[in-house]
Amino acid sequence: MDLSVVIPIYNEEANIAALYERLRGVVENMALPGGYEFIFVNDGSRDQSLVLLRLLAARDERVRYLDFSRNFGHQIAVTAGLDRTQGEAVVIIDADLQDPPELLPHLYQKLREGFEVVYAKRRTRQGESAAKRLTAKLFYRVLALITHISIPVDTGDFRIISRKVVTALRQMPEQNKFIRGQISWIGYRQSCIEYDRTERTGGATGYTYSKMLRFALDGITAFSDVPLRVATISGFAVSGVAFLVMLYTLYSRFVTRDFQPGWASLMISILFLGGVQLIAVGIIGEYIARLSANVRQRPLYIISETNTTPPDTTTPRS
Ligand code: UDP
Ligand code: MG
Repeated sequence: MDLSVVIPIYNEEANIAALYERLRGVVENMALPGGYEFIFVNDGSRDQSLVLLRLLAARDERVRYLDFSRNFGHQIAVTAGLDRTQGEAVVIIDADLQDPPELLPHLYQKLREGFEVVYAKRRTRQGESAAKRLTAKLFYRVLALITHISIPVDTGDFRIISRKVVTALRQMPEQNKFIRGQISWIGYRQSCIEYDRTERTGGATGYTYSKMLRFALDGITAFSDVPLRVATISGFAVSGVAFLVMLYTLYSRFVTRDFQPGWASLMISILFLGGVQLIAVGIIGEYIARLSANVRQRPLYIISETNTTPPDTTTPRS
């Protein structure tokens, strides 16, 4: 098979029909001799998405779908889709038509030129709040600053990858997925093309701020140890300052004898120290939480219904 398209679905009943039509039109035009498949992963939608997927699958044998037992999150949905792909090339695309299917032939063309990954970089973003654009921009730049791996900025998971990359991804068993980072980590020849990201056609975003925060922390903890080091360094810095203040206190008490009852300074230093300690403990906690998630070795997702065949189990999962 030439091409698999992986589409995570969370409450996308308003978009599925239009998405399918546009995708099919584009991919049919590519005239792939080996054929293609669409893999929809229903990530615990609360609307009629699953019903629509069943209908599509009944009509078109190239439509495959997986239905999760609950909402596991976008990155897990993409991972599950990748696990079941058969194509030599695999496209990951959002269901809300923010990633134009019309870009597929260009991605595919570029992949054929000898790249293993071609990602689509957002030149502009429309229809997203200023807060979202700003936090996203900031996040990618901070991440670039504190990691050794060059993760492309302003890029989502919309991209095409080769079978080699899918195989490599399936050897990475981490529970907290940050797929765009993992793909950068894998390496090989990578390239990009730029596009203008449009508004979502229907429905509402499935990414709440708390999901975005968790996603950002997954990315940072999986690809950088700098926050831990910052915690250590700020611990030293604060202790250093505290030591100097201590010297000064002793000096003013015993030498100059010019001291004030120090309620204010005492409160400030206690609060400040307490804050720094809590932050440091919190940072360590973020790493430990992910560590324990991986130690538990739970399956990444539970499937309640599918018309795909299970992946071969020869690929190591841990
Ligand atoms: N999505 C998902 N699980 C979730 C949230 C989102 O599978 O918990 C899917 C969603 O259906 C879409 C893609 O992930 O296909 C991107 O989500 P969304 O458009 O809501 O994110 P945004 O573009 O606003 O960042
Ligand atoms: Mg979207």
